[in-house]
Amino acid sequence: MRSLCVLGSTGSIGVSTLDVVSRHRDKFRVIALTANNNVDRLFEQCVAHQPRYAVVIDSDQASVLRACLREAGLTAVEVLSGADALEQVASLPQVDTVMAAIVGAAGLLPTLAAARLGKRVLLANKEALVMSGPLFMAEVRRSGAELLPIDSEHNAIFQCMPADCRAGERAHSVRKILLTASGGPLLNVPLESLRHVTPAQAIAHPNWVMGRKISVDSATMMNKGLEVIEACLLFGLEPHDVKVVVHPQSVIHSMVDYVDGSVLAQLGNPDMRTPIAHALAWPERFESGVEPLDMFQVKRLDFQPPDLDRFPCLGLAYDAVREGGTMPAVLNAANEMAVASFLDGGIGFDAISDTIRHCMEFLPAVPADSIEGVLEADRRSREAASSYIASLPSRN
Ligand code: NAD
Ligand code: MG
Repeated sequence: MRSLCVLGSTGSIGVSTLDVVSRHRDKFRVIALTANNNVDRLFEQCVAHQPRYAVVIDSDQASVLRACLREAGLTAVEVLSGADALEQVASLPQVDTVMAAIVGAAGLLPTLAAARLGKRVLLANKEALVMSGPLFMAEVRRSGAELLPIDSEHNAIFQCMPADCRAGERAHSVRKILLTASGGPLLNVPLESLRHVTPAQAIAHPNWVMGRKISVDSATMMNKGLEVIEACLLFGLEPHDVKVVVHPQSVIHSMVDYVDGSVLAQLGNPDMRTPIAHALAWPERFESGVEPLDMFQVKRLDFQPPDLDRFPCLGLAYDAVREGGTMPAVLNAANEMAVASFLDGGIGFDAISDTIRHCMEFLPAVPADSIEGVLEADRRSREAASSYIASLPSRN
């Protein structure tokens, strides 16, 4: 039986994780669940899974949760609050598996804590890896943690890689990775109308239902950019070894191109419960609740190269990984700030890439030799993004 901590249990990945866990109650014990502030959903999850700990960031919200649990007679659940409590539950000795499903930089320290302690880390929180890159992978290698990718593309690549390949080390029989991308909701809208795209249009993904931030990242293709960086780190590849292929149907989740000319792909319906179940059951497999893929319904699979004029964020991510050091952390933080401002109606869609470009020019890369250095780059990039956004003409 595995003992699980789900960081970000109330989000899209968190909910799908608990759905899979519910199908295999005999195989998992839920030790800790965490949320930012969605106390209602966290309460429901506590009722369903009876964890030992529940974490919310805000202490007032924690009091609300405590009162609800007391009223429901669930006195065995201990409620903790604050960002430190995330690290605390991810580090518990009785937890052997941590699902890292917090969105953004907020997930870095608890995810890293689990990796340092050699736990099985199911990595959805790509921003944590992008920010801390080689430092994170060094901790994984040192501690012997099992790092299993949840991002559908990286999970697909993992499934297609040679069985003996090690985290962060290049498999010599692999020529390159073909990282598939749906192209998001804006693949075919006229280029000149991109600046008028609204948050509602940007988050209306054609194939996947996801949290708001990653949905905007999919519309700008920054999501694919972050995934290029993630792939380089997880599989020990150079940026030019990772080729983005736009595949609008989202049926092939990525491919591995071998030196002998073989190309292995993983296919499935676009439902995150497949990669989640794969990682939860690994190295076995079990049922995920996902419908079987019907090839006669799919009928055709299309592929095209990405258009970097339409999706400048993808080019910026390649620049960041080539520059290395703190640049991926600068890119990620600027993107988080720009996306949050876009979702709040503060900046237009096209200002997202402008903000990131500005921060990357303003804050040259320095070697990322400590987590403190990475966090400092993140902080400075947020400041630079905030000043840049404030300098833009008002949209009202
Ligand atoms: P979401 O917004 O639906 O959920 C995010 C979770 O993180 C919630 O539980 C929220 O309470 C928590 N959270 C947010 N801010 C926090 C903070 N400051 N401190 C503590 N907790 C906080 O996001 P999601 O779509 O589930 O994505 C989660 C991660 O998984 C992201 O890194 C995303 O890129 C990655 N991912 C998601 C999908 C998907 O299909 N949703 C696919 C691949 C990768
Ligand atoms: Mg993905």
